[in-house]
Amino acid sequence: MLKNRAVVFFGPPGVGKGTVATRLAKEFGCRTVSSGDLLRENVKGGTDLGSQAKKFMDSGGLVPDQLVTRMVMAGLDKENGCVFLDGFPRTIVQAEELAAYLKKRDWELLVVDLEADDRFLMARLTNRLICRDCGAIYHRINLAPKKEGVCDICGGGLYQRTDDQPDVVAKRLSVYHRQSAPLRDYYQRLGLMKTLRGDTVLDETLTAVRKLLKNIP
Ligand code: ADP
Repeated sequence: MLKNRAVVFFGPPGVGKGTVATRLAKEFGCRTVSSGDLLRENVKGGTDLGSQAKKFMDSGGLVPDQLVTRMVMAGLDKENGCVFLDGFPRTIVQAEELAAYLKKRDWELLVVDLEADDRFLMARLTNRLICRDCGAIYHRINLAPKKEGVCDICGGGLYQRTDDQPDVVAKRLSVYHRQSAPLRDYYQRLGLMKTLRGDTVLDETLTAVRKLLKNIP
């Protein structure tokens, strides 16, 4: 069980941040806060924030720092003990806001950086399918559902995220390299980051991350 700690899952789109975070959260007594999921909930619910964020998300660009930061901090306020962060921070400004927030709460930070190359990520994302009802993630080739278009777990319909179309994926990858990748240097310098491979089979990534989290002093 982790205490008074935030674990940031960092890395390019499609590397598996959300999958790893959600699968390990319970085991470590942590809850996951995902900026992408929170934004999509706002879009679906037709909130002010959702309508402001939608155009950035559809194009593959980043939602402005101020909007995302406010939303994520409100999510963090509801949590106690330990949080896994998926998709936040994505810019230096967001990382600085997070550091100030964690300092106030006297929480420690660890960044788990998952890496994979663009070709691998493009193939993974453009074949990704998601269950409308329970959010389970499939892959058309590597993790196909038993019945086409239907979730194995709950029977819900599967869909492709609008931002998983090839042209939008290409934009998201280039935004990652330009705006988010500099965070790796930032966290490296602070000695807060561990890098692991995100392009192995899921069980291997889970084992590596599990080992890392179990050895936090
Ligand atoms: P992925 O990591 O696969 O790109 P996410 O679900 O994390 O998917 O994000 C989807 C979209 O939501 C991003 O392309 C971006 O527009 C927006 N978004 C999510 N998190 C952030 C963030 N921390 N800062 C700015 N925009 C964000």
